[in-house]
Amino acid sequence: MQLSPETTPQTLQQFYFDGDGEMAALTRSYDWSKTVLGPPEHWSQSLLTTVSIMLKSRFPMFLWWGTELIQFYNDAYRPSLGNEGKHPKALGQYGEECWPEIWPVIKPLIDQVLSGGASTWSEDQLIPIYRNNRLEDVYWTFSYSKVNDGPGKPGGVLVICSETTEKVNTLHKMEKTVTELAESESRLRYMLADAPVAIALFSGKELLIEAANKKVLEVWGKTEEVIGKPLHIALPELQEQPFLQILNEVFNTGKPFHGNEVKAFLEQNHKLEEVYSNFVYQPLKNAEGETTGIVLVANIITEQVVTRKKVEQAEEMLRLSIEAANVGTWYMDVNTRNFIPSSRMKELYGYYPHEEVSYDAVINQIPEEYRNKVRLAVEQAIASGESYNIEHPVVGYHDQTQRWVRALGKLYPKTAGHAAHFSGLTLDITEQKRDEMRKNDFIGMVSHELKTPLTSLNGYLQLLIARMKKTEDTFISTSLEKAHIQVKKMSTMINGFLNISRLESGKIHLDLEVFDLDQLIMEIMEETKPTLQHQTLTLFPCLPVSIYADREKIGSVISNLLSNAIKYSPKGKKIEVSTQVSEGIVEVSVKDEGMGIKPQAIEKLFERFYRVETKHTQNISGFGIGLYLCAEILLHHGGKIWVESEIGVGSTFYFSLPLAP
Ligand code: ADP
Repeated sequence: MQLSPETTPQTLQQFYFDGDGEMAALTRSYDWSKTVLGPPEHWSQSLLTTVSIMLKSRFPMFLWWGTELIQFYNDAYRPSLGNEGKHPKALGQYGEECWPEIWPVIKPLIDQVLSGGASTWSEDQLIPIYRNNRLEDVYWTFSYSKVNDGPGKPGGVLVICSETTEKVNTLHKMEKTVTELAESESRLRYMLADAPVAIALFSGKELLIEAANKKVLEVWGKTEEVIGKPLHIALPELQEQPFLQILNEVFNTGKPFHGNEVKAFLEQNHKLEEVYSNFVYQPLKNAEGETTGIVLVANIITEQVVTRKKVEQAEEMLRLSIEAANVGTWYMDVNTRNFIPSSRMKELYGYYPHEEVSYDAVINQIPEEYRNKVRLAVEQAIASGESYNIEHPVVGYHDQTQRWVRALGKLYPKTAGHAAHFSGLTLDITEQKRDEMRKNDFIGMVSHELKTPLTSLNGYLQLLIARMKKTEDTFISTSLEKAHIQVKKMSTMINGFLNISRLESGKIHLDLEVFDLDQLIMEIMEETKPTLQHQTLTLFPCLPVSIYADREKIGSVISNLLSNAIKYSPKGKKIEVSTQVSEGIVEVSVKDEGMGIKPQAIEKLFERFYRVETKHTQNISGFGIGLYLCAEILLHHGGKIWVESEIGVGSTFYFSLPLAP
């Protein structure tokens, strides 16, 4: 280097390393004499110029100089060295000392450039460097170029670079986002494909089917082949229906359309099927707000609608048949007692169809002797939640005509949509009742007529038995005894029929008197003894029990229970009768060890003409009226009857009566 006499080290440094930058200052103050380069005044012109250009450049630059590759760098490069790391030690340092972590990568590049190779160009290269107290992943775009130190003499390598870490990271992030987006889109597609709602996308005014999920294809009765076709070609059956027109309007107006429980006819398996759906046609718009397509989302509700229609149809049919059957219907709110009778119901009670009719007005038309019974049955059904079924006469309010009705009612507990209510039917059974009455009268008349000769027959037989006791002819006396038993059985039967006809016609009459129940039981047992088969009959006596009742009728109750115990326990050994008194009530039980009664039969046992049908009972004669009569007789006495029974073990019949006051 040629220095003029007035050139001092200071002016030289100011000339080449001038500027306010940190690196210019550091380069100025650095003690270069301690390096192999010596003080700057000994540097070659090429080195001074390169360092000068570098310090002034706003582009990150770095220089290795000489065989030792002594380092220089500028302010723009400085941040790449981080805050706590290589800066400012890197200035004037040997390359190899400064970059041990990447030396194996960069040294070959430096050598290649110094030995005359072409300048390098590396873009977004990952060169991890130690800065900020850790090894960081840093990306660079850089070029290594040779700087000559005189003709043909390599002086150093100038690195012009820029850190692209941020750009690369942003790029990576974008790539990640794109991948995630693609994934989530494919997830969404997958979800839509399998969604239980029908989804389709139509594009353009001609409504090309762009996408259609499984459900919509199933409803259309089509395969993916329809994709890409215009809707009216894919589903020609739509041409006679309003949908294409609506879609057209949605497209033109850009306003969505909602359909509620809409019926469509779609071709499935070569025939038109009724399909119901709730759907929306949602227009899709571009950035300019123009409609470019329409999305169809439909919830198919065919099954629900069809089921509901069936229920509605069944209700309608029921309503029609109720009307046709001329049945009166009614409804009563359990809490408010608000009562709504149908027109026919009003008619049955003799009111005009347009009249307001209250519950009390209806009840008042029931003759007094039945009124309480009906009222009680209704109240009991409300309290117990059970149904009620009762026959009673009614006297028409306006026409004063007597009719017989059968009223059936049931409590319907509170549900989400309805208050607890009681409702039912009322049928006109006047004709049937009249027939029954005629039959009853006939039975009553016949039984009555039969009773007189039978009573005389009984009397004669008793006389004969008394006379024959004195003779030695056992054949005659046992025959007479047997004839007597048969006559008694017959009179019991005829009495039963007579009682039934009286009961049915409401003509049952009680001859009330105070008598000792125990005494009556003993008498009946005595009378029954001759009919015993293998059984022993035992009474567990108790203190005399006075009751106020119809002695003959209570006698027939006991006699019925005893004869049943004998009839239905042919192989049983014991029949036990006992009485118990407690709290003003006497309870009588008749226990046998017979065939027993199945639980399902027990509740029907006290109904008229009910008989348990089993192979054991089919050869035992009877009409199924005995227990019905017992129950009715006890009911008229304010008493009760019930049974406990186990198949194959035996039955115990109980009845209870109030004691005499
Ligand atoms: P009947 O005996 O004439 O059939 P009941 O009214 O007296 O009529 O009895 C009704 C039915 O109850 C009978 O058919 C029988 O099946 C059943 N039953 C009555 N008493 C007994 C009993 N002690 N053991 C078993 N079953 C009985």
